[in-house]
Amino acid sequence: MTKIEGVKFDERGLVPIVTQDARTGEVLMLAWANEEALARTLETREGTYFSRSRNELWIKGATSGNTQKVVSVALDCDGDAVLYRVEQSGPACHTGERSCFHTPLLEGADSLDGVLARVYETITERLRTLPENSYVARLHAGGIDRVLKKVAEEAGEVLLEAKNGDREALATEAADLVFHLLFALAEVGVTPADVASVLQAREGKSGLKGPKDVG
Ligand code: AMP
Ligand code: ZN
Ligand code: ZN
Ligand code: ZN
Repeated sequence: MTKIEGVKFDERGLVPIVTQDARTGEVLMLAWANEEALARTLETREGTYFSRSRNELWIKGATSGNTQKVVSVALDCDGDAVLYRVEQSGPACHTGERSCFHTPLLEGADSLDGVLARVYETITERLRTLPENSYVARLHAGGIDRVLKKVAEEAGEVLLEAKNGDREALATEAADLVFHLLFALAEVGVTPADVASVLQAREGKSGLKGPKDVG
């Protein structure tokens, strides 16, 4: 097998792999790869590792079905760690949690984009499975007009609280608005990534871009 350019495997022939959700940015797991596992990942785009406990090549999801479609792979600055960015199907952790890092030792606020992407995933999951006690399932049953009406209602509440200058209430109503906006997007099949690419394309273009010009 050809040496993978620049990767420094340790004395056991392993390199640590940090695996990140390509949609949400969430760190999913830390695992190890030997040269064969890394080469297989690069070739097949299936998240592949080396299991130290089983001492064998480990294709993530081989038994659980929770596979990883690898979007990109990067090497760190000094070549001794590798990042897989993946589209994870199902939970990454064998405990059933989405991420292996679900035990906080120090709490802190998450970034807005990460939360948005996860909330969107939850909404689409509820729309697929329609669980009995789900608010999403219930609102969805009323048709898209019910969802759109909520978007307009919450927008009105945002206006009121912004006028009042009540920062806590404004944050709450903004959260309600964003949630129902994500819901409307999910109903139509537009993803947060679609919205992000529109915003990104506009970035750095100042001037003449009032809402009327934008459309
Ligand atoms: P899977 O690759 O998801 O089919 O899981 C196969 C086995 O690998 C599990 O029974 C666990 O022992 C182990 N495993 C799966 N996911 C993880 C993980 N994120 N971290 C550590 N071990 C895992
Ligand atoms: Zn570095
Ligand atoms: Zn885990
Ligand atoms: Zn509200």
